[in-house]
Amino acid sequence: MRCVPIELSTREIRVAALFKEAPADVLRMIVVHELAHLKEREHGKAFYSLCLHMEPDYHQLEFDLRLWLTAQELATADVASRR
Ligand SMILES: [Zn+2]
Repeated sequence: MRCVPIELSTREIRVAALFKEAPADVLRMIVVHELAHLKEREHGKAFYSLCLHMEPDYHQLEFDLRLWLTAQELATADVASRR
């Protein structure tokens, strides 16, 4: 998954403009993901344990994010093909 960079000096999580229209659950999943990266750099078992600790539905929300991103890409491709 594409990760959102965290500014470690300020501990600031910046969410890409792409996610401005994202559902609240998707944004929550992104925040949980990035918070877990403050402790675990890699997407390993410890990382996902932290994600699940913060959000028990993490895996479902991550799947929902992938669906949402795919829908965004298809909508963009559809608009481009009509030009
Ligand atoms: Zn990540």
